[in-house]
Amino acid sequence: MVRQELEKLIHKTIPSLESMAGHSKLVPVYLSDKVCQDVTFRIAAVDVSQHIGSPIAHTHTHDTPEIYLAISEQEGDIVFELNLDGESFLVESPAAIYIPAGLPHSFRTLTAKNEPCFFLGIFLDYVKGASSCIN
Ligand SMILES: [Zn+2]
Repeated sequence: MVRQELEKLIHKTIPSLESMAGHSKLVPVYLSDKVCQDVTFRIAAVDVSQHIGSPIAHTHTHDTPEIYLAISEQEGDIVFELNLDGESFLVESPAAIYIPAGLPHSFRTLTAKNEPCFFLGIFLDYVKGASSCIN
């Protein structure tokens, strides 16, 4: 490939702000088919250190599975209250939560040690009718 073609692989106009179920504000989406047409999933990321104590989204559902991914170097850098189908869980990062399509969910950050502190929502848009990923 020539340099000009290679440069097209680098996407700098991210994130795109998109509306999403349960969210009152537009959500920063860093990766989707708008960035690269071959991508069949979306990755949104929110700096939860700016949202302590108040939920980013109301309890909502999606027609595809979503993965919450709370990344941190140290255990407990992010502590959040997770709501899955009306059940409440206290969760510390690092943690990955698989949310089946149609399952009501939301989370509320209680503490975030670092700023910024990104929490990812990965939408598996290519999965239809998936119901579980329980281990
Ligand atoms: Zn969601």
